Amino acid sequence: MPLVPPGCSNDYEWLSFAIDLAKRCPPSDTAFSVGCVIVDAHGSEISQGYSREQPHYHAEESALSKLTPDDERLPEATLYSSLEPCTRRKSRPRTCSELIIASGIRRVVIAWREPPIFVSDAHGVTALEAAGITVVEIPELADAATAMNAHILNTDTNGGSSAPAT
Ligand SMILES: [Zn+2]
Repeated sequence: MPLVPPGCSNDYEWLSFAIDLAKRCPPSDTAFSVGCVIVDAHGSEISQGYSREQPHYHAEESALSKLTPDDERLPEATLYSSLEPCTRRKSRPRTCSELIIASGIRRVVIAWREPPIFVSDAHGVTALEAAGITVVEIPELADAATAMNAHILNTDTNGGSSAPAT
């Protein structure tokens, strides 16, 4: 059952809602929990998703999979993701950055950048900006967006970059 956004009217509120969605992710020690919501030009939600909503799905991938590629709302839409979109995958054919660029979305809002735990060279913000997409970061929400990933971030036995990308 989809959550109903509580009258979100700005980037901060929509990103907070995406972070709330991340709390729905099935627990994992090998992948981050992320939430994503896509909002049209009029401030209405058009899709949402979260990590592992389907096996191996990322949040952005899940939200985009519920829309058709020719959805005319996408070029005017904003995608809110609690984490920087990925640029490397092993279990899926396309990264979230690739999927976002292909979708025609022109604006992305995130709370924090991917740390070098599962991959050493995450560069979603750079990839999106290189494609002409405007990326807005709201670092004030980083603590909330990382809270459900604390068990991953607080481990110092991961060695930095050797764990598999999911
Ligand atoms: Zn991803």
